Amino acid sequence: MAGTPACNASIGIIGAGIVGVASALVLAQRGHNVSVYDPCPPGQAGASRGNAGHVAAADIFPMTRPGILRTGLTMMVRPDAPLRLPGVEKLRLAPWLMRFLAAARNQRFAASTKALLHLNREAIEETEKLLGQAGISDMMRANGVAVLHDNVRSLAAGAALWSARERAGFPSQELDHAAVARLVPGISPQFTHGRFCAHWAQVADPFALVQGLAHAAANRGVRFHRKKVLGLAADADTVRITHEGGTTIYDRAVIAAGVWSRPLAACLGETLPLVAERGYNLTFPDPGFVLDVPLVLPDRGLAITHVREGLRIGGWAEFSRSPDRPENERIFAALKRISLDIFPGLAPHDARAWMGSRPALPDSVPVISRSSTSERIFYNCGHGHYGLTQATTSAQFLAQLIEGKNPGEELRAAFSITRLQR
Ligand SMILES: Cc1cc2nc3c(=O)[nH]c(=O)nc-3n(C[C@H](O)[C@H](O)[C@H](O)COP(=O)(O)OP(=O)(O)OC[C@H]3O[C@@H](n4cnc5c(N)ncnc54)[C@H](O)[C@@H]3O)c2cc1C
Repeated sequence: MAGTPACNASIGIIGAGIVGVASALVLAQRGHNVSVYDPCPPGQAGASRGNAGHVAAADIFPMTRPGILRTGLTMMVRPDAPLRLPGVEKLRLAPWLMRFLAAARNQRFAASTKALLHLNREAIEETEKLLGQAGISDMMRANGVAVLHDNVRSLAAGAALWSARERAGFPSQELDHAAVARLVPGISPQFTHGRFCAHWAQVADPFALVQGLAHAAANRGVRFHRKKVLGLAADADTVRITHEGGTTIYDRAVIAAGVWSRPLAACLGETLPLVAERGYNLTFPDPGFVLDVPLVLPDRGLAITHVREGLRIGGWAEFSRSPDRPENERIFAALKRISLDIFPGLAPHDARAWMGSRPALPDSVPVISRSSTSERIFYNCGHGHYGLTQATTSAQFLAQLIEGKNPGEELRAAFSITRLQR
């Protein structure tokens, strides 16, 4: 086995999204000598740039769950469907979808939930601590979440999951119509029911947050190289990262390139079943009211947040094997219609449109793992809907693995890449 460096290992990280940058900062704080590669400035190119900004600690469930086939099909046939599978992609995505459905079985769902709970349990506290150390505590607020419904049937449909959250240490309270109206100014009266959960936080600007962490990492000696990585390989003593401009040798390498981690895994001979779950949002610069808590509208597949730039409304899932395909303008148009239905007073002009590719694995559990082909190469990718939420705790888990500390067999296996290669 490769030596287990307690500190001072040279580590090359591929990818400067929230996951790569949080990993860089945590590893540098622990005494390692870290370099980060990305052709773009930290946080700019990937899903970390314009996401909803929720630190959704209480959301411990994978996307796939018992009954997903029926729920998914129902969602896809609606005219303003929050779930889309473009025609050209259906065949290409079939193997991934089979895995996604298999991961919905009761036992697999329970195992994935347990793994996600491990990352989420202390997500708010650990993120607060990291932001404090980076001098950017003011970028996050632990203000809870309101989950809203427009009928009692829909509220009741989520009851079992709320009970499970309560058993996991995340209690919530029911909101009646008056409470919803008080909490959410400007919202259409059709939202009559809801739940409030305190175990949730929001960031003011997801892009600025990555940049703030990168700045703190640079102050700790992390070097950022504006270069794309073309490949990597390891022998018994070193890892060679080949990038635009040459090859550099490290003790360890970490693949943290979001959805683009898949081709990097392929060059090591490993299967990483990552697809792009493309999410869309609109940010309305001047909503005319202040939203104090972030919102989730499960029936519409939407998250809503008052970020620094305005009111951000979005979510949805358009699955694709190609993260770089052009955005689907029809989705933005549908999103605008729905946004105005939810907040009738919003001015439709000037909404800023953004699409990002969530790195989606079939069981929604990220790969935080040593490579199965090299003791010196690690993965930290595949965080799907919750890379912002889980970036700090994932970085801590990664650091344990790199330092040869044993997180326990169950956890090691839960996040291992080998679980996806069967
Ligand atoms: C609409 C939407 C809303 C979301 N809302 C939330 C939310 O509220 N809360 C939450 O927790 N999560 C949310 N997410 C999910 C979250 O944004 C992602 O899970 C997270 O950003 C993934 O981070 P990452 O660092 O793994 O990947 P990315 O942010 O995609 O970064 C990957 C980086 O790797 C770089 N890269 C790629 N290939 C190479 C290469 N060969 N060499 C070097 N660099 C490379 C890219 O340039 C990019 O900078 C949302 C996502 C979307 C799309």
